[in-house]
Amino acid sequence: MTPKVSRFLRDAAPATPCLVVDVDRVEENYARLHAALPLARIYYAVKANPAAPILDRLVSLGSAFDAASWEEVQACLRSGAAPEAISFGNTVKKESAIKAAYEAGVRMFAFDSEPELLKLARSAPGAKVYCRILVGNVGAEWPLSKKFGCEVEMARDLMIQAAELGLDPYGISFHVGSQQTRTETYQAAIAKVGMLFTDLKNAGVTPRMINIGGGYPVRYRSEVPEIGEIGDAIMGAMVEAFGNNLPEMVIEPGRFIVGDAGVLSSEVVLVSRKEKDDPVRWVYLDIGRFGGLAETEGEAIKYAFRTPHDGLADGPVTIAGPTCDSTDTLYEKSNYRLPLALDCGDRIELLATGAYVTTYASQGFNGFAPLAEHYI
Ligand SMILES: *Cc1c(COP(=O)(O)O)cnc(C)c1O
Repeated sequence: MTPKVSRFLRDAAPATPCLVVDVDRVEENYARLHAALPLARIYYAVKANPAAPILDRLVSLGSAFDAASWEEVQACLRSGAAPEAISFGNTVKKESAIKAAYEAGVRMFAFDSEPELLKLARSAPGAKVYCRILVGNVGAEWPLSKKFGCEVEMARDLMIQAAELGLDPYGISFHVGSQQTRTETYQAAIAKVGMLFTDLKNAGVTPRMINIGGGYPVRYRSEVPEIGEIGDAIMGAMVEAFGNNLPEMVIEPGRFIVGDAGVLSSEVVLVSRKEKDDPVRWVYLDIGRFGGLAETEGEAIKYAFRTPHDGLADGPVTIAGPTCDSTDTLYEKSNYRLPLALDCGDRIELLATGAYVTTYASQGFNGFAPLAEHYI
């Protein structure tokens, strides 16, 4: 938690639950990532947190943006982003959304299938297009399955077809899964793109850009590799794959830019046991899965907690949200422990919650209002 956030929580004591984001920390994270990968153009993945104060700050820093919908494209434009600095990175787009973005000046689009490529040829003629390939997600705490991307053989054929359709066969992208903790997974994906570039050149198509996607991790409960180490591993793999003829590099960080800039402030609603001598206490908070903590699904992302009693004796807990849905249990199997002194009415903070929280909050399940947000 940054000093600015702890001061705000102490002095303003905002009603809970709420998310407090230190926008200066967003700027620091942008600078740290840029220092780790100076040759890469940063396209912030808007879905991680699309709040205007974040987009405004990133525009002022010269960031580009990865938008997944026409609505996200519009949010970037409202914050002053140039249309040339926006990539429409979802491989599944309504044709009306492609058309709207193209008319607004967006010229960079992702695809991973022939039908999508045909939509682009019709509604974004001449645009720069890049094909997303499937790559391994080993080491990702929030992996992506096969939902996006295609096999390299298909990518090769589609890139050739893109050129035939009058589109600009600009590059190749991948995404190694979110909260990626293994540098080797990036390296394997880059090697795969290197081979595909060679195949394409042999077929007469010369892509110019590699999009390394997102995945750069944030520290939650356990250590993750430093961003400098990840940057070095990526550059090592780039040189191995492309020699001194490096293509343009694009990265699409989401979590890394905003994750540790945010803190959720919550109230302990109840601490109870299921039988008198049960060592495990149930701790119910005023925020849960439906308040925005979607990434606790399967206990995938394990947030760190701060309580007023840290350092005192603790014991095992199950942590749950306030709604009447049984899936609104956050952590049951991940060996969480909280202080024995924790009591109803205590404030409790969930650290590094700036990414993938606010937009996941429900509209009012059980009558609870959507999550309040403060950008400071
Ligand atoms: C979500 C997403 C990202 C951002 O991922 P992070 O793990 O938050 O860095 C980047 N690129 C694409 C295509 C995405 O869908």
